[in-house]
Amino acid sequence: MPTASITLPFETPALILLVGASGTGKTRVSRMFQPSQVLRADDFRRMCADDPGNQSVSGAAWQALETVLRARLNLGLTTVVDATFAEEGLRRRFAEIADEHGVLSYALAMSTPPDLAHTRNAARTGTIRVPAHVVDDQFAQLREASPKAEGIDRTVLAETLPVLGAALERLAAEEDRTADLADVRRVFGEAATELFAWDAASSDPQFRTGTFAAGNESLCVRWVDDRDPFDWRFEARVPCRTTGCPGPAWTPVRSVAELADAYRDAPADEAECIRCDC
Ligand SMILES: [Zn+2]
Repeated sequence: MPTASITLPFETPALILLVGASGTGKTRVSRMFQPSQVLRADDFRRMCADDPGNQSVSGAAWQALETVLRARLNLGLTTVVDATFAEEGLRRRFAEIADEHGVLSYALAMSTPPDLAHTRNAARTGTIRVPAHVVDDQFAQLREASPKAEGIDRTVLAETLPVLGAALERLAAEEDRTADLADVRRVFGEAATELFAWDAASSDPQFRTGTFAAGNESLCVRWVDDRDPFDWRFEARVPCRTTGCPGPAWTPVRSVAELADAYRDAPADEAECIRCDC
């Protein structure tokens, strides 16, 4: 347990606008906040079009983002908006929304130099990479910005905040909360934990069992820990190949792909039956 937790210089509630050109690290900085606090323009475009870079749905995406933002501010919840905010009109609009709800507005400004932003943007793939001249235009627009005159109450420079420390602290709290799923996460990845629960009563006399389940389907696994720190593994329960043998048989599963193989009863490794292999 951390002895002193990091405090951030924002009043609660607040509307915090991440302000910076593409490639300046806004999304990384946003990781210091709870995921549900962050409204990301890219996410709303992805929801509208399956593609975060599809600018043709920007109108609908901003409308939806604003609806969510207003609902949150009505509840007095601090909200962070992750977008470029290069356009003065957009900054003014969001400053007004904060005023309407009686909360302070902050510009959380990135100070990443243009050459680094260009390098990061160029390294991106797919539609989130924008043309280089767009990055230049965004920097040019942002140099002209004067948040105070536009109605934004306070400006905070991201470089003055312990952003990595705050992000790690948040992730550590999340890790504590889900420590029981650490082995599942390590072997199968974060997303797989959403399909998994440990069984209250193990279905295997020797080992702890858990179940991947969705709808009416399930796949049972057991955590095999033979007290050798290098010999731990998950095994999935599969039918025994021997005609008439009720099994069950177990097969090692080291990845989601191998879970999928076990689900299809086509395990990567041979399965060992508890009845006919002894
Ligand atoms: Zn068998």
